[in-house]
Amino acid sequence: MSEFVSMRSVIEASYFIAAILFIFGLKRMSSPVTARGGIIWAGAGMVVATLVTFLYPGMGNYALMMVAIFIGGVLAWVSGKKVAMTNMPQMIALYNGMGGGAAAAIAAVELLGGEEHGLVFGTLAVLGGMIGAVSFSGSLIAFAKLQGLMKSTVRFGGQQLLNLLLLTATVGLAGIIVFQHGDINLVSVFFLLALILGVTMTLPIGGADMPVVISLYNALTGLAVAFEGFVLQNAAMIIAGTVVGAAGTLLTQLMAKAMNRSLANVLFSGFGDEVVGEASDISGSMKPIEAADVGVMMAFADKVLIVPGYGMAVAQAQHKVWELAQLLISRGVDVKFAIHPVAGRMPGHMNVLLAEAGVPYDIIYDQDEINAEFASADVALVIGANDVVNPAARTDPASPIYGMPILNADHAKNVIVIKRGQGVGFSGIENALFFLDQTRMLYGDGQEMASQLIQEVKSI
Ligand code: NDP
Repeated sequence: MSEFVSMRSVIEASYFIAAILFIFGLKRMSSPVTARGGIIWAGAGMVVATLVTFLYPGMGNYALMMVAIFIGGVLAWVSGKKVAMTNMPQMIALYNGMGGGAAAAIAAVELLGGEEHGLVFGTLAVLGGMIGAVSFSGSLIAFAKLQGLMKSTVRFGGQQLLNLLLLTATVGLAGIIVFQHGDINLVSVFFLLALILGVTMTLPIGGADMPVVISLYNALTGLAVAFEGFVLQNAAMIIAGTVVGAAGTLLTQLMAKAMNRSLANVLFSGFGDEVVGEASDISGSMKPIEAADVGVMMAFADKVLIVPGYGMAVAQAQHKVWELAQLLISRGVDVKFAIHPVAGRMPGHMNVLLAEAGVPYDIIYDQDEINAEFASADVALVIGANDVVNPAARTDPASPIYGMPILNADHAKNVIVIKRGQGVGFSGIENALFFLDQTRMLYGDGQEMASQLIQEVKSI
């Protein structure tokens, strides 16, 4: 008995340490300077939490557990090493789906065990199971869309009604299962309905909105894991699930706010799948410029602010852009990077790319920190960014992005825009910035143009 009690104490103490590691890791992830270390701390917490499972009294099937950990570990290691930066959103969708699936699987075991959990734990078990299953199938659909394995949106008449019916039926069954444990038929239909609900909820949402949806499912997975943690009386699951749920909720809110969208608008409007609106008429024309002229302009500037966007990620131009910035800095130019919270296609997309290229964190600035500086900049170099520098968001109430906070590139004395042609941004609308008097267009692929600019600056 005392051996059992002391083992229980070791397990609880280890979970406490794991929880501290998770929270410490998450805190460090909040800044690009410490983020890498944060991932290692959180990973160490996960190792502790996993190893402790082997100490559980009455735990069997060690060989099976080892095989599962080995297969999962190898798959995660290989895919993590191989994935391209631009494919990171679908990778996260896949990992998140696995978390939701695991929570649903735990719920299934509990609900089929036939053991009475009482009203509160029974309710938590079915809720966690339902949310986990929705998150699992929804995340897989998000993955398939981002990976280009299926059409961006699938819509049909009565879709919302179908979702409502599915939701009602799933919740109804959940209510019955709380009082009637162990019925395999009821539990199977319950999970089947929840899985279908995840699919039908995600099908109509535009592929380009998937990052927000993935973030939402991430929050839901955390919630599901926390609920199952209560059922299993597992402190590590409760704490990790709550932390993931809270972080996912904040991230979802942040992304929706930075895009000036409500969550309901993301979930039900089908935005991002087609051209969504017309901005007011823009007068003037886009004026092209040659790399040689841009080279001179930047080499003799006092201050250059670089605004990277999705196109820089597509062109994989971050290394060349940093090389260009270093050249300018060596000539005494004050160079800073201005990052919009939703530049690219996932939160922190630009920060990750710039960090990969070795850009020091102290010249990378968030929107709020840098916006006032555009007015004193000689050149704003916009590379592959579009919506995040569209002044229509400030001035044109008819624009679909009206109200979205943007980088004030239009306040700079000169604006140079590198993009391949007349392509629109994510929101599908024209950009008034490209037509301003002080704006010049340097047409071409981001990486190629950055290379040309390097040559031009070197030749001065
Ligand atoms: P945008 O998607 O608005 O614009 C990208 C621009 O890059 C295009 O106009 C395109 O023009 C250009 N481009 C594409 N490929 C290349 C290339 N190889 N070389 C040079 N240019 C290229 O990007 P932003 O980063 O400005 O804005 C992000 C948008 O994504 C926002 O609307 C945001 O709301 C949305 N979003 C962001 C999420 C996030 O979490 N970060 C999540 C979901 C949506 P052209 O074709 O002419 O080259």
